[in-house]
Amino acid sequence: MSILEVNDIGKSFGSLKALGGVSFSVEPGEILGIAGPNGSGKSTLFNTLTGIPFSPDTGSVVFDGVRINGMSGEAIARLGLARTFQRETAFDNLTVFENCMIAAARGSEEVAAGALEFMGFSESQFGMLAGQLSVFERKCLMLATAVAMEPKVLLLDEPASGLTKPEIESSIGLIRKINASGVTIVLIEHVLTFLMSLSQRLMVLDQGRVLTIGEPRSVIEDPRVIEAYLGTRRAA
Ligand code: ADP
Ligand code: MG
Repeated sequence: MSILEVNDIGKSFGSLKALGGVSFSVEPGEILGIAGPNGSGKSTLFNTLTGIPFSPDTGSVVFDGVRINGMSGEAIARLGLARTFQRETAFDNLTVFENCMIAAARGSEEVAAGALEFMGFSESQFGMLAGQLSVFERKCLMLATAVAMEPKVLLLDEPASGLTKPEIESSIGLIRKINASGVTIVLIEHVLTFLMSLSQRLMVLDQGRVLTIGEPRSVIEDPRVIEAYLGTRRAA
């Protein structure tokens, strides 16, 4: 059974159809990559799946056998579907440890500390204010906070954006490590090398629809995908 089944979901903002009937499923244990031009609906997809900050207008989402569309973001997260945001979100005036504790499963300090260590933080960094961290460290904190929720599926929105090449290499390692610990991952990314080295399958969105989904190498060589990225159709 698929861990996540997305059936024909739609989301509009006024007259703009951000998602126009998106269907796909995610298998337990996999890393599914999502690519697509700017504005193609990738972040909106994550927003609607997690109910943060809104649900889809139409269609259904079944997570681990439970229909979750329309549920609150909190309830969905509690069931085990967690997400990170495109911009690093952290409470700047709280410490690294306090940030992680907000999300930690069962309010457990052991879980929070374990998640931070798992994502490469040393105990000496636990007391630092999140506002003092580098962009990369903030991304690691966001990952640790998500891991501390003990999710079954983790949705990552552009985890590599704004990172240097060596930092991208490090975050590939961290995401592999999270996946190897038993967490299914769905990953939106612009950095193609990142997507190609992590994804078992790759889905491409274009104008709120699934253009194609399949084996990553054949997906990026698909003429429709190349066209969507180069934008020749829209320019015509
Ligand atoms: P992507 O993440 O693929 O770059 P988004 O999902 O952020 O794209 O956006 C898809 C489309 O929906 C864009 O045209 C964007 O401007 C619009 N959009 C996204 N969120 C909102 C919102 N909260 N209100 C109005 N329009 C939105
Ligand atoms: Mg986005």
